[in-house]
Amino acid sequence: MSDRRVRVRFAPSPTGPLHMGGVRTALFNYLFARKHGGDFLLRIEDTDQTRYVPGAEEYIVESLRWCGLVPDEGPGFGGAYGPYRQSERKDIYAGYARQLVASGWAYTSFDTPAELDAYRAEAEAAGRTFSYGPATRMGLRNSLSLPASEVQRLTGAGEPYAIRFKMPEDLDVTEEDLIRGSVTFNTRELDDKVLFKSDGMPTYHLANVVDDHLMEISHVIRGEEWLPSLPLHILLYRAFGWEETRPRFSHLPLILKPQGKGKLSKRDGDKMGFPVFPLLWKDPETGEHYRGYREDGYFPEAFLNLLALLGWNPGTDQEIFTLAEMATSFSLERVVKSGSRFDPEKARWFNRQYLQKKSAQELARLVVPILYAKNITVTLATVVAVVEEIKERCDFVGDFWEQGRYFFEAPAEYDEKAVSKRWKPGIPAAVEEITGLFSTATVWEAAPLKEEFSAFMNEKGYHFGDVMNALRICLVGGNVGPDLFRICELLGKAETLARLSTALRKLGPGH
Ligand code: GLU
Repeated sequence: MSDRRVRVRFAPSPTGPLHMGGVRTALFNYLFARKHGGDFLLRIEDTDQTRYVPGAEEYIVESLRWCGLVPDEGPGFGGAYGPYRQSERKDIYAGYARQLVASGWAYTSFDTPAELDAYRAEAEAAGRTFSYGPATRMGLRNSLSLPASEVQRLTGAGEPYAIRFKMPEDLDVTEEDLIRGSVTFNTRELDDKVLFKSDGMPTYHLANVVDDHLMEISHVIRGEEWLPSLPLHILLYRAFGWEETRPRFSHLPLILKPQGKGKLSKRDGDKMGFPVFPLLWKDPETGEHYRGYREDGYFPEAFLNLLALLGWNPGTDQEIFTLAEMATSFSLERVVKSGSRFDPEKARWFNRQYLQKKSAQELARLVVPILYAKNITVTLATVVAVVEEIKERCDFVGDFWEQGRYFFEAPAEYDEKAVSKRWKPGIPAAVEEITGLFSTATVWEAAPLKEEFSAFMNEKGYHFGDVMNALRICLVGGNVGPDLFRICELLGKAETLARLSTALRKLGPGH
């Protein structure tokens, strides 16, 4: 790599919520910047006013913050190359568009939307697709086909016009993509893209190239859906005379559906029961909700880790990476060319790994608000003890409630299957005797309780399994949970005895 400072940008358009693929693009840009001691910029590409969605920019920023991908420069983040929102830069672009008209790389076109629609319809009826380009441009209304005096008259009369790129005919454009290797396009397949619209706004292509130049972007790392735009972008750098300093390009592979066919789309998540977006998104128009990784209980570190491995192959067996470790190991050469299949089970697995690594203290602090919301107030020490007991069974913080609710509230009902299997004649009497035994216990801890229980059972000649299973039903409502005596200890003496007598009353004689 040359000694040029590495500057990369994440350049989303605020047209809706950020897809997880977008977060991955941001992540790879971030990693590349960190790896090379460079800058990671956020640029909001909001020049298409018709596609603007309220709340989308805030959503993007909040998503990046949640993940810990904080830009070094960007709207609200400072930086010497601002503004970083294209709508606030709109005065910059017209001059650049005019420069290309003056140098012959672009021209003005006066065709109205209605005229263009008619050409499209006409072509379609004839089984062709209309393309505004070398083959058609001389038959359309533009500064190349019209006499100069007419062009002057039209502009003088305030006739609206767009500025189009004059695509060279039959030219090979080749680029060394840092992920894909050499890619070549022939301009025959390309049209004269609009660079500047009659509404006074640049299109994505012009604004993107001008801003990458002005912001001194060294590397463009973006999704493969932008690959078809690459020849135009390269020709724009040529047209402006910026080839020497233009960025290097890399196009990231798609994230595919779990079945491996087709791009993971925003509808897949709800259909298949996993999130596709970093945060919950409420569509402002339809009111529809789309689930988010954050609200589904994923740790941001786990989310980033699973995203990194969707497309990046570290070249070792290591799967768990902190953000800093990823930055050290990351390279574009190790990003794969083909699409990566998203595996929702693996996503859960990642979260589990991060959860298991956390201390009981840390996890307890996350469980307390869940309990609080259910009006359950217990000491942090109790929550820590419960967490320690059931952590192994949990993949998400939310699982602690499902897996351990009986530590915090008495069973409202008893699992029918367990009861019919275990609540046999003779059992209630034994449970009653154990209740009596426990009520005299002086040290309420698992080990002495177990000892007293065992001595009693041996003396009576009762079947351990039968009685213990019945006690478990009384205390937790079914055949679940960790060591029975540990449950007793954590519930405390009063609660244990209360649950035993409630169960005896509710379940009645054995059958
Ligand atoms: N605004 C484009 C997008 O929404 C940016 C593409 C690029 O990075 O060049 O993805």
